Amino acid sequence: MLIDLHTHTNVSDGLDSPEDLVGQAKSAGLSVIAITDHDTVIGWERLRPPTKQGRLTVVPGAEISCQTTSGMSVHMLGYLFDPNDGPLTEIMSLTRDDRIPRMKKIIELLNGAGIGVTFDDVVERSGSAATVGRPHLADALISLGVVATRDQAFTQYLHNDSPFYVGHLAPSPEEAIAAINRAGGVSVLAHGLAGTRGAIYSLDEIAKLVDHGLAGVEVDHRDHDQQARAQLRELAESLNIFATGSSDYHGTSVGQRLAMEVTAPAVWEGLLARGNGCEVFSL
Ligand code: AMP
Ligand code: FE
Ligand code: FE
Ligand code: ZN
Repeated sequence: MLIDLHTHTNVSDGLDSPEDLVGQAKSAGLSVIAITDHDTVIGWERLRPPTKQGRLTVVPGAEISCQTTSGMSVHMLGYLFDPNDGPLTEIMSLTRDDRIPRMKKIIELLNGAGIGVTFDDVVERSGSAATVGRPHLADALISLGVVATRDQAFTQYLHNDSPFYVGHLAPSPEEAIAAINRAGGVSVLAHGLAGTRGAIYSLDEIAKLVDHGLAGVEVDHRDHDQQARAQLRELAESLNIFATGSSDYHGTSVGQRLAMEVTAPAVWEGLLARGNGCEVFSL
């Protein structure tokens, strides 16, 4: 039983449409897939109500972009929340709106360093995405021949500690957890020890989030080395919270594979029992 609880579509920075993602999940033999686009729910909302029931369970979710008071970027996965909940909807829409001026600021900084990318180049790459992000800028830089891959764009220009980094309006992780919980959802810290992306929490800080209602941590993720996984697994066991695994899939062409990391069935069942803001559906 393959369970993948973290994937993106082209309504944020993934490369496949929600419909294509579902098709691929079925071909890959998945049983459960959560669609967790950055700061938007329209990808999975578009798939509801299903015209025909199938064998793939789709879990409604989102990955909320957060920022700590010290300016650290944190991603919070939310599952099974009520997509019409006022405060959570407001958080996501404020973030999405602010990503536009933020993108323009990053572009200005790049232009200042002699890299001639424009906002229109990014819009051309982001297409119909509701959430504009750095991966779209990376795609624009690829089109312009500045870099060859998204990874190279991040390593060279776009990573969180780069001089071209600009944040956007975002809730604190504690606010995101509270909003997800209030909306009947379940919150799981995404790739919490992915140190290659930038600053990360200490284990003690992650434990404090549990006091604020954090229900789980993503343990098996490609950006976690063996030590990070062991530390998070131990933390989850000691605090009795969910330990998940997931692909954080954005597309096969960026070297990712659905279900390259998975969540144990018992963990998924616990998570499903906890969330009561909306229902899963099958396709
Ligand atoms: P943004 O939402 O605009 O801040 O961009 C963050 C997104 O960039 C993440 O969700 C990933 O999809 C992608 N990404 C890829 N590599 C990195 C990296 N090294 N650091 C941060 N984000 C990365
Ligand atoms: Fe992403
Ligand atoms: Fe993330
Ligand atoms: Zn993600």
